[in-house]
Amino acid sequence: APTVVIVGAGQAGSQTATSLREEGFAGRIILIGDEPHLPYQRPPLSKGHITGNSSRDRLWLHPRSFYEQHEVEVLLSERVTTIDRAAGTVLLDSGVSLGYDHLVIATGARNRSLPLQGAALDGVVGLRTLTEADDIRCRLADVSNVVVVGGGFIGLEVASTAVKLKIPTVVVELADRLMGRVLSPRMGDYLLDAHRSRGLHVELGVNVANFSGRDGRVTTVTTSDGREFPADLVLVGVGAVPNTELADAAGLPTDNGILVDEFLTTADPRISAVGDCAACPNPYAQGRIVRLESVHNATAQPRCLAARIAGTPEPYHSVPWFWSDQADLKLQIAGLTTGSDESVVRGSPADGKFSVFCFDDGTLRAVESLNRPGDHMASRKLLSAGGTLTPEQAADTAFDLKAHIA
Ligand code: FAD
Repeated sequence: APTVVIVGAGQAGSQTATSLREEGFAGRIILIGDEPHLPYQRPPLSKGHITGNSSRDRLWLHPRSFYEQHEVEVLLSERVTTIDRAAGTVLLDSGVSLGYDHLVIATGARNRSLPLQGAALDGVVGLRTLTEADDIRCRLADVSNVVVVGGGFIGLEVASTAVKLKIPTVVVELADRLMGRVLSPRMGDYLLDAHRSRGLHVELGVNVANFSGRDGRVTTVTTSDGREFPADLVLVGVGAVPNTELADAAGLPTDNGILVDEFLTTADPRISAVGDCAACPNPYAQGRIVRLESVHNATAQPRCLAARIAGTPEPYHSVPWFWSDQADLKLQIAGLTTGSDESVVRGSPADGKFSVFCFDDGTLRAVESLNRPGDHMASRKLLSAGGTLTPEQAADTAFDLKAHIA
């Protein structure tokens, strides 16, 4: 029977193993991860987990017994160091070599670091792993001032948690908007006001110059305009870079992600890539090659890939969607916002319940919903079905979206 080796035991790696069994794949499955934990969900790490409100047990994607029952061999604290394509093997840092018939790269992404003076001080942290989240949780219980570098999703989730814990918190963002790369200006501006009115101090259009401290611990963040902000915890949330080194070293093409076709295959037909590490042509980006960092992408791509390995190939075309919880602000996004030239609002920003429908050349491309989950679900269905909607219909709350799709 064929052997599938999966490198990376995160959301996408675990889902690949699970989906292969669901698809009836009867061969050997080996799942290799360099973290010490069984595969877990990352979203709670920047939300309930750091306040201590959510239980650790709820993070695991599956209990250990699940992998045993489904005959998935899970190797933890093991790092794949080399792919030998000619031999069809991967080499682990423990010295073990494993043969594959099909190799799945699901190595995810890692936090971008800031090459600034003082970045190595104690108290300057990133958030990607459970180990880092546990550390932040401990520190939050005992800090006076938090500075978050970067006004993206993870930074704002942690910042709003710190504000909820009544810790004075400053977000420093280089751009002139929050989440400017992924949200419409309308939603970004609304969230800026919403965070400020909840007590978060947001500085836009400023760079961080350096971090300084005392006895090896951070005390101050200095911005490029010379201002100093006190901080005994600094979260650096300036985005992630895909883990493509294994693929690069094996001679597989990469460009901000491991390049795969619409069937998620790399340039080598025996090697595929899924999740945060993969860059793939996306029909919801008009066929452009995009790399997405979302739970949806890290579950839908593995399902598509598993079906192909098990014998029923289908191109990947699943409507991208994403969520972020920032304090009481429940944001959900369907589709991809980039490149929209017209947007209309449905619902009531004054009540904190509205959606922004983003159109490009009259075609609906994305819908950002704030505390309006019904709009989000309807939009996903509409985008998936390729249905049409006019800006006038979207803006008219009397127009029944659900009935329109059905
Ligand atoms: P990962 O989950 O990163 O898993 C990759 C694994 O591979 C890692 O364990 C890595 O250590 C391991 N690995 C790498 N190289 C090797 C190697 N050579 N050998 C062995 N193992 C290796 N998405 C949402 O949709 N909504 C959210 O609210 C949300 N919140 C998030 C909050 C946080 C704090 C973070 C970090 C992410 C969040 N995301 C969210 C994004 C989502 O978690 C990721 O898109 C998803 O985890 C990607 O899964 P993955 O398996 O591709 O990568």
